[in-house]
Amino acid sequence: MKVKFKEIADKVLDVIFPVDIKCLLCGKELKNNDIFCSDCLDSDIFNEGTRCIYCDAMIKEGNLVCNFCREKHHIFEKCFCPLNYNGSVRKAILSFKEDNARYLAKPFAKLICQRLEQENLQIDFIVPVPSHISSIKKRGYNPAYLLAEEVSKITNIPLYEALIKNAKTPNQKFLDYEERFLNIQYTMKVVGNNIKGKSVLIIDDVITTCATVDACATLLSNAKHIYACAVARTNLI
Ligand SMILES: [Zn+2]
Ligand SMILES: [Zn+2]
Repeated sequence: MKVKFKEIADKVLDVIFPVDIKCLLCGKELKNNDIFCSDCLDSDIFNEGTRCIYCDAMIKEGNLVCNFCREKHHIFEKCFCPLNYNGSVRKAILSFKEDNARYLAKPFAKLICQRLEQENLQIDFIVPVPSHISSIKKRGYNPAYLLAEEVSKITNIPLYEALIKNAKTPNQKFLDYEERFLNIQYTMKVVGNNIKGKSVLIIDDVITTCATVDACATLLSNAKHIYACAVARTNLI
């Protein structure tokens, strides 16, 4: 299915961002039809400028690839993240992930689609990064699934839960890429064989080291093309 993000995304714009709403990130009242307040806009929220052609991390002007991707071959082809994971973006995403702010799934999905429409990709399935049943019970939802659901609605590309998580991932906080990758890979498995020869888009909420999306992509490696996206990206430079 050919992606026609712009056409479809424009149609839903009014529904997602009605007049007299609050700033999507910090909750400040807005007087016009913007989605971010001027304070948030001034705080470098967009992941734009020169970015790594693989992992979408900010890099120095004139470069194509970040230091990490120069050493590391990713299983996915490219990833896309519209926002920087810091300041008010970080707060909003934490609310979305941990504090039941499910209403953010729609506008976040819209931002992802705006980013994707610049790429003219052919995508057959949208695959959310899975969550373990204990996390879903605790939160009431899988944030990545909510995003995938909304991106699917905007683009008409089917959502397909190709991965399930059958064990909890140990705390990843102080682990490096390889340790994270192995930890995550062993906690997931593939369901069915529908993605063979297809193009898939993996969706997560935040991308940090790319270990999670690489682990997902490894399990989906019989797909023809594998892309990844998230609302925001940590930028380490
Ligand atoms: Zn704001
Ligand atoms: Zn990179």
